[in-house]
Amino acid sequence: MDIAFESVGNISDDIKDEPEFTEHNFKRYRLPRANKIQYKKICAKEQKNASLKKIALILQKCSSDRTFDEEKVLNDCSEEVKEVRLRWRRRDEAKKRLEEFEDPEDILKIKCERLAQAIAQAQHLVVYTGAGISTSAKIPDYRGPNGIWTRLQQGKDIGNHDLTLAEPTYTHMALYELYKRNILKYVVSQNCDGLHLRSGLPKAVLSELHGNMYLEVCKNCKPHKEYWRPFDVTENTSRYFHKTFRKCYMCNGPLVDTIVHFGERGTLQWPLNWKGACKNAKNATTILCLGSSLKVLKKYPWLWQMDKPVKKRPNLYIVNLQWTPKDECANVKINGKCDEVMKKVMDCLGKNLSLFIFILYIS
Ligand SMILES: [Zn+2]
Repeated sequence: MDIAFESVGNISDDIKDEPEFTEHNFKRYRLPRANKIQYKKICAKEQKNASLKKIALILQKCSSDRTFDEEKVLNDCSEEVKEVRLRWRRRDEAKKRLEEFEDPEDILKIKCERLAQAIAQAQHLVVYTGAGISTSAKIPDYRGPNGIWTRLQQGKDIGNHDLTLAEPTYTHMALYELYKRNILKYVVSQNCDGLHLRSGLPKAVLSELHGNMYLEVCKNCKPHKEYWRPFDVTENTSRYFHKTFRKCYMCNGPLVDTIVHFGERGTLQWPLNWKGACKNAKNATTILCLGSSLKVLKKYPWLWQMDKPVKKRPNLYIVNLQWTPKDECANVKINGKCDEVMKKVMDCLGKNLSLFIFILYIS
């Protein structure tokens, strides 16, 4: 009893100590204007979300199962109903964009012929490559359903992949062949696997925008001293930590890898060679994108000559199994595996190259 009495006494004391809630006091405790607006916005957003959630639950029901009141809510909130349906549509589209899809054989053949013709007639062909060109070399791609990024997003293990055992794929060799025939002028690659160089493509016609796992450099030496290794130099490196723990034999400075991770800004001249990529993107009459989701490359407007009027921009051809943000701008989008597409394209070029070149010279 004593305890109960004591506690009641305390509560009343607390109440007594509280300041009287007059209009004058309220003004003193008022939130700053900016916070008040922010608070109102948050409340409105929460209210709207709750209302959309309620409507979504009703819409999920079969119309025959809805009560009279639920039907009334749908009728009274036509704007919210529209918004829920729009959100569902967007969610389905985003899901669909991640799906891999292959063109039927007959369509693939026609598209490959068109691509072969465009390649043969290109005055300055530049190719942008992504992880999709190395998947047949047993290197996992990045954003595909089983790619490294996708698996990391899903909290799954990415396993061990010994990239040093990878060999250039048919696509790498086809690009080298096009370079030798003086058709392909430049390659901009997002891959770090070094397979373009191993295919024979010279360093001078290649930008490895995200680095090369076989190259470590000394930044103390000017120009940077390069060390090409027959092994993966990134074993001890990570995002924001690039020291490989080996030393430069010229100056004894620390060696660093050349990999550009997410959120990092690559500044090395080699193997990134942004200057070469800029110059060739500017001169490109035809751009071929192979095995890239283009989610990173789309952020560089100069790669697509976006400063020029639409009609003066280069012809664009895209080969990728998934949707890319540049599909709508492409002359032809081929949903196919890079090696299969390039085999068909090289077959066409082998048969028809001299004819295409003849047409080009007389036109
Ligand atoms: Zn050095």
